[in-house]
Amino acid sequence: MQPLCDGLFDFGKLYMSEDVQYKMAVSVRELVQFVMLSGSIERGLGFVGPSPALEGVLGHQHLQEGRPEEYKAEVYLKHECHIEEVALTVRGRVDGIWELEDSVLIEEIKTVSGRRPIEEKPVHWAQCKVYAYIYMVQHDLQHIGVQLTYLNRRTYNTTEFQRSFTFAELEVFFDDLVQQYMSWSLIQIRWQQIRDRSIKALHFPYIDYRKGQRSFAVHVYKALADGQLLFAEAPTGIGKTMGVLFPAVKAVEQKKIAKIFYLTAKTIGREVAQKAFADMREAGLRFRVTTLTAKEKICFREEGPCDVETCPFAIGYYDRLKDALFDAMNEEAWTRQTIERLAHKHVVCPFELSLDLSIWGDAIICDYNYAFSPNAQLRRYFEEDDSDIALLVDEAHNLVDRARAMFSASLEKRDVWDVKRMMQKAHPPTSKALHRVNKFFVQMRKQAEEEPQEGRPRGTIVQKDAPKELLTLLEDVLEEAELYLMKEPDEDLAPPLLELYFRIRDMIRAGGQYDKRFVTIFESFRSDAMLRLFCIDPSTLLKKVFARVKSAILFSATLRPIDYFREMLGGGEEDRHVLLPSPFPQEHLHLMIDDRIATTYRMRGRTYGDVARVIAQMAEGRDGNMLVFFPSYRYLEDVVSRFLERAPSIPVIIQRPGMSEEERENFLYAFESGSVESIVGFAVMGGIFGEGIDLVGDRLTGAIVVGVGLPQVCTERDLIREYYDEQNMGFDYAYVYPGMNKVMQAAGRVIRTEEDRGRVLLIDQRFRQERYRKLFPPWWQPVWTRHTGILPPPKGSS
Ligand code: SF4
Repeated sequence: MQPLCDGLFDFGKLYMSEDVQYKMAVSVRELVQFVMLSGSIERGLGFVGPSPALEGVLGHQHLQEGRPEEYKAEVYLKHECHIEEVALTVRGRVDGIWELEDSVLIEEIKTVSGRRPIEEKPVHWAQCKVYAYIYMVQHDLQHIGVQLTYLNRRTYNTTEFQRSFTFAELEVFFDDLVQQYMSWSLIQIRWQQIRDRSIKALHFPYIDYRKGQRSFAVHVYKALADGQLLFAEAPTGIGKTMGVLFPAVKAVEQKKIAKIFYLTAKTIGREVAQKAFADMREAGLRFRVTTLTAKEKICFREEGPCDVETCPFAIGYYDRLKDALFDAMNEEAWTRQTIERLAHKHVVCPFELSLDLSIWGDAIICDYNYAFSPNAQLRRYFEEDDSDIALLVDEAHNLVDRARAMFSASLEKRDVWDVKRMMQKAHPPTSKALHRVNKFFVQMRKQAEEEPQEGRPRGTIVQKDAPKELLTLLEDVLEEAELYLMKEPDEDLAPPLLELYFRIRDMIRAGGQYDKRFVTIFESFRSDAMLRLFCIDPSTLLKKVFARVKSAILFSATLRPIDYFREMLGGGEEDRHVLLPSPFPQEHLHLMIDDRIATTYRMRGRTYGDVARVIAQMAEGRDGNMLVFFPSYRYLEDVVSRFLERAPSIPVIIQRPGMSEEERENFLYAFESGSVESIVGFAVMGGIFGEGIDLVGDRLTGAIVVGVGLPQVCTERDLIREYYDEQNMGFDYAYVYPGMNKVMQAAGRVIRTEEDRGRVLLIDQRFRQERYRKLFPPWWQPVWTRHTGILPPPKGSS
């Protein structure tokens, strides 16, 4: 064995071992922050400046492009230290390297905002020094120059600090840093040994695989092992959560992946994933899983937004963090309850603690936001090359619109005006900057009224280009607001100003990503107006996220047509897909179409009574609970009032907008099995009862879906249609596919288990058309229609 870093570690020397069993990786940023951060959570870290990923987009490129030829930008560096049987890889992307004839200069760029004086931060220097050390090892250098450059995001002015180091100096620094980190890593390594032994011995936690589940698990494992993207439709009953988690856990032990992100659109999805891990734990698995809860939900503050300056859980956070982490190592399910308990005990912010715990866990269960949103707190996981992360994206059909929302940004005139008035005395420069933004809105409104655009609603302007003038004005607001917020802002003024600050920062972020996949929409209504940078096509930005992970599995019970979802979600021809069959016998579901009734928007008014009559007939003629789904609340109410007149004795329960947790539970409780009377529930498609609920057995034996679920016509939908019209898919991509997905989800509520039997009635003439029918899953055959009897499957149906 050849000693590498002689005599530096309490726990042994670093050796180039031939027998590496455990590999660990840490980014330069993580290493430095973990070891060096102390004291309180700083407000500046929380709100000043764009996210690190975005810094590159906004300023770094500008600076790097102006550097001379011999300057190499964004150089990926990595270094591996071996400690007995452990290999620790320290890796990261240095902003720039100048390789001159007789010297080398390593540059790290930090973006700053506002006019605050530049402060050199020890953590920034530490990052530079680590990169410099790695470079020296790789190139066998004895001296090196290091430059820390602070770049003003707005003006592009720079402030530079230079130092030079010898190899011996940086070696001592690096080894000390790694030593401190390794004492923690060793705990992690010991844990991984325990974890891996448990995975090796782990059998599938249930008596048997469900039909189709094993096949799904095999597809998942192969994609994870090969580092690929897999799009999978795993119909209800397959047991998709365990079908994806079991092979993912096995892949961790096989070193195919190192960390699992289980991403969900809804809280219920997180609970199901937690339960799957709990079931595997029952079967002997040892696995640390962090569940992330939204900051506003888990925050201990009783009211108002987060304020780290005054919050006792933020003051001195880093001084107590390591004790809290150490304590957490005694547990494995880092759920919201566990995190809250630990946070109370150690007086640390529960939200920050959950993020810090995520580093030390084996899996993270969280909302899509944490991985895909440009403002995500977990972006650090997606900034490295050769990542060994796997993303498991649950109910992936939801990601299309969620991604659009995450990448878009909007601003309302009223908010600008309110904060402008509020800041008038407290900080006139901020107020004036907001006044200019307000003026911009006023001009736009005038233009929208005086020069209406053909084919657009009155008061609406759509532009292909980004609103550069507005973005510049918003930069001014940020700069002034930061100056005010960094001093001692008024307690009452700070929260609304901060809220607006974040909205504006989001606009600037979207402005930085703006390309032909975005449009600018201005809409005025009465005294208010809104400007939106709308991301029509989220595929490219999603693709960038997938490019930064080892593998991703995007799965759902309804993911057809698969080509549409693959395209929208950033996949390509080369990516795998699988459509698994339903595990239930076809005859368990009786599907009918009432193709006599027209439910198009124009025809609705004439057919409310017909729809109510058909629902009443089905409800009167059968035992068992039933759910009826509508495309909107308005439509629901119009039909329900007629239904109640027609069938007053049938018990009903009705979904209302914005139901509380308790009201939701009561709604579902009405479907308890064993109730004497059958109930008819009225709900909307795509809502909280339209997917993700399980009413098994006799809790639900029938469903009626009214209409083909097309999203409401609006400017944004029309823009999506126009965009995809270029490939002749406009109407399908904007309306038909999202609509039919909701229909399939709603109809899918009826048969949840092998024992379930039930009927689904689809009401709308359009269901007879090939355009819609070819999207039906094969297990919806045969299709009975009131009008024409059994319909043969359409050509080209999937
Ligand atoms: S507990 Fe709440 S207010 Fe305090 S730092 Fe955490 S999120 Fe902010």
